Amino acid sequence: MKIPDTLKILGREIRVEQTPDLAHEHDDQGQAKFRIDSIRLQAHTPSVPRTPQGIAITFLHEILHWLLFLNQEDKVIQDNEALVARLSEGLYQVLHDNQLRF
Ligand SMILES: [Zn+2]
Repeated sequence: MKIPDTLKILGREIRVEQTPDLAHEHDDQGQAKFRIDSIRLQAHTPSVPRTPQGIAITFLHEILHWLLFLNQEDKVIQDNEALVARLSEGLYQVLHDNQLRF
């Protein structure tokens, strides 16, 4: 999966940034930043090795957070982080294993 620099989600233009310091600064692999319309992803670096598959799953994970946020499902986000994690893993598997591109 090629990670784009920008992404449109329900009409919002979201900037996608791969950064080398997210894991060190926030102990995160990805963040959906609703106030500044962005998704931040921990990049693969020598001190934070990541696979392309891992980065793609994190990317899908943050897209799911954005979809829940834009549908005013903030409570779902807070209460179901594990569900978002399982859905992003499952969505990646279906897209990847079936070589789906739209
Ligand atoms: Zn999450």
